Amino acid sequence: MTPQVFRGIGVSPGVAIGRALVVEARRPRAKREMLDAARVPTEVIRLRKALGDARQQILEVQGRIAKEVGAQYARIFDAHLLILEDRLVAEEAIAYIQTQRVNAEYAVQEVLEPLRQAFSRVEDGYLRERRSDVDDVGERILRNLLGQRPSIQVERPGETILFAHELTPSDMATLQRDAVLGVATETGGRTSHSAIMARSLEIPAVVGVENICAHVRDHDTVILDGLEGLVILTPDREILGHYHARKQHLAYVGRALHKLGSLPAETQDGYRVRVTANIEFPAELPQAKTHGAEGIGLYRSEFLYLNRHDLPAEQEHFEVYRAVAAEMHPRPTIIRTLDFGGDKLASAIHLATEENPSLGLRAIRLCLHRPELFRGQLRAILRASAFGPLRIMYPMISGVAEVRAANALLDEAKAELTKAGVPFDPEIQVGAMIEIPSAAVIADLLAREVDFFSVGTNDLIQYALAIDRINEQVAYLYEPLHPAVLRMLRSVVSAAHDEGIWVSMCGEMAGDPLYSLLLVGLGFDELSMTPASIPLVKRMVRSITYRQAADLAHRLFGCATAQEVEGLLRHEMRTRFPEYISGTPPPRAEGRPGSD
Ligand code: PEP
Ligand code: MG
Repeated sequence: MTPQVFRGIGVSPGVAIGRALVVEARRPRAKREMLDAARVPTEVIRLRKALGDARQQILEVQGRIAKEVGAQYARIFDAHLLILEDRLVAEEAIAYIQTQRVNAEYAVQEVLEPLRQAFSRVEDGYLRERRSDVDDVGERILRNLLGQRPSIQVERPGETILFAHELTPSDMATLQRDAVLGVATETGGRTSHSAIMARSLEIPAVVGVENICAHVRDHDTVILDGLEGLVILTPDREILGHYHARKQHLAYVGRALHKLGSLPAETQDGYRVRVTANIEFPAELPQAKTHGAEGIGLYRSEFLYLNRHDLPAEQEHFEVYRAVAAEMHPRPTIIRTLDFGGDKLASAIHLATEENPSLGLRAIRLCLHRPELFRGQLRAILRASAFGPLRIMYPMISGVAEVRAANALLDEAKAELTKAGVPFDPEIQVGAMIEIPSAAVIADLLAREVDFFSVGTNDLIQYALAIDRINEQVAYLYEPLHPAVLRMLRSVVSAAHDEGIWVSMCGEMAGDPLYSLLLVGLGFDELSMTPASIPLVKRMVRSITYRQAADLAHRLFGCATAQEVEGLLRHEMRTRFPEYISGTPPPRAEGRPGSD
């Protein structure tokens, strides 16, 4: 059989080689059954029991996840309880059984369908992914009604790689770290709950692999590379040999790298780069520290708002930030202020639906538009700054006026706290994210207003190249090495340094070892990334002199296309690190234009 290569988004690193198990085919579907009037009351009782059992099961899963993975992950299941406890869902399903005289399974499926559809149509990526929460709850109720066990049955523990159109957080919660070697799904993105859970369980995972379930069959030999975002079906002996070697290398490198965690990321001629971690939940702090983070370069505070219908009060913000500051002390933590908007949070903040949420009222725009949301967060960060070094960062800055308006609110908050005698760090550093092209173009003007920059390449690339970062159709055009992106990075760094401020990068690009030499050569002072990427990036930085890195960056600027830049960069990496970067290019991918 010829090997087939599929490209997706690697969301949890590691190589897995095993046998496929396609779980999508096992999803329960309800058939419509017409009932006699006399059977209707019994059917309603069946439904009520299934709902009660589902609630009990979710509470059990939640308790287990809280113990094994962390309380923050367990909160993912609050959303499931909310859907389940929504009286409308139960009442509508009962009314459906009574008026249509159909079986409970079918009624549940029909009542949840409009809710699924509504989530599927939402433009915002995070909310759209919440459709899987609805599926998860619906499937659990159906399984209870059908008397099926609500978990994925792994027939070959220790050998299995799961394939599914979509995996729900409940599915992930049933997976045992050692039973499942890897996970590949057709849908999902970096921010899907399942991706977050795969990372925390340290199971290699690739999401967004178009149409993979139509090509893979149970028991096929498959390879999954969660670092490169690749899935290879029916690999031949040569490819298998290559990936066995790569897996062994990664394990070896992982052990060797672990020792590097405590060493600084310093080039051989003494140029020091601070390597920090991106986190979504405080529960990730221990992992960040064991991987050698020198601080938190991006704490995505909006995760405090997710999966709830109310808003966190100032005190709740404060307690979380204080815990983060105290745990990381003396290492600094950058708290990014609320980066939300559009459809995301519609239930709690009551925003109008927007045609184009990623160009809409989000992040700093939302905070300035609704200062009551922002003030509490600013006060909480300031109060927590008395317990450890904190920094404030504003997301989605498009111009100087926004920085000034945000700083004016920050000054008010400082004045209030001073008046009330509440301690805080008066010298707290304030930074701007550079993730909108206008901010990159006027970086020289912005640099006079803030203490640091942090480049958010995830958004900067999407806005600069007009590529929706969560649209799988155009993912092949999402090119971090596009000469336009490189030029922006260069000019942002030099604008920052000319004004005497430091500059970080906290987009995903910072954690990809392929880019490390380039980013050092461009002069970044800090790189912030998923904790697991830290040791390898440190290894890259420590292997080169600043001069060599700057020279490489200079040569890359001579290239006219992203492909040329990448070719040169891969060549350089292969020469320098034959043991880290795969020497044989993977076979041509099927299923996606432009994949290699
Ligand atoms: C970015 O845009 O690069 C970034 C780090 O922020 P987020 O991914 O949270 O939008
Ligand atoms: Mg961003």
